[in-house]
Amino acid sequence: MDFTKPRYTPMSRRRRIYEGKAKILYEGPEPGTLIQHFKDDATAFNAKKHEVIEGKGVLNNRISEYVFQHLNDIGVPTHFIRRLNMREQLIREVEIIPLEIVVRNIAAGSLSQRLGIEEGTQLPRSIIEFYYKNDQLNDPMVSEEHITAFGWATPQEIDDIMSLAIRVNDFLSGLFLGVGIRLVDFKMETGRLWENDLMRIVVADEISPDSCRLWDIKSNEKLDKDRFRRDLGGLLEAYTEVAKRLGIMSEGERPQGTGPILVKG
Ligand code: UDP
Repeated sequence: MDFTKPRYTPMSRRRRIYEGKAKILYEGPEPGTLIQHFKDDATAFNAKKHEVIEGKGVLNNRISEYVFQHLNDIGVPTHFIRRLNMREQLIREVEIIPLEIVVRNIAAGSLSQRLGIEEGTQLPRSIIEFYYKNDQLNDPMVSEEHITAFGWATPQEIDDIMSLAIRVNDFLSGLFLGVGIRLVDFKMETGRLWENDLMRIVVADEISPDSCRLWDIKSNEKLDKDRFRRDLGGLLEAYTEVAKRLGIMSEGERPQGTGPILVKG
């Protein structure tokens, strides 16, 4: 399939496949492709808290593109094909495995609460957790026993998912360390991608400050969605800072993408 020639369909004529809290999936230009659209909506606590933060979708689209493109480049398979515009990317259609995979390097959030470990404590090793993707049940934590017994993934698929999770964690930890940011934890999703009769597990959804905990190495300042969850304010500034440190946003570029862009001579 040739993905190099863009064939755009006007937004209004595209078939909407799925709408989630922060993203919309549309039918793609070729069979087996979808368009992933990043909205500005921020939600937390299973959407009980909701706000629109203008420009968040643009930043997450760019940051997730950066991460997924690099993962593709180092041979970690993902659903990502290419970014189309400020808010959209072309992706391969996959069958999403109904698990949220959380990898933790430092104690924070629900792990700290559940086990009484102070936030910021370095964990003895990286820990992988699985949560069943189900909003009605509040995404409960599950074990490999539940996953195989209920048929959400096979033992071989769990092995593949864990290998992917470790590779993504190593890549992200190094990437962020290089720009003065500690990767505390992150969430990723995976899907089954069929190529002819062969199936493989790939990284799907998004990886952005919405789904990672990112702390500045020196100040411990939070540069992630905890700014929204904990009413700290400055979410857009924090995401912009992450994008700038990664070298994604050029100086003066505005995440809103509406106003004039300052071009430095
Ligand atoms: N996370 C996510 N989506 C979820 C739940 C968690 O992206 O539905 C991310 C979250 O941003 C953090 C990591 O997964 O980086 C671990 O989250 P935790 O279990 O501590 O839950 P929380 O404290 O966010 O409720």
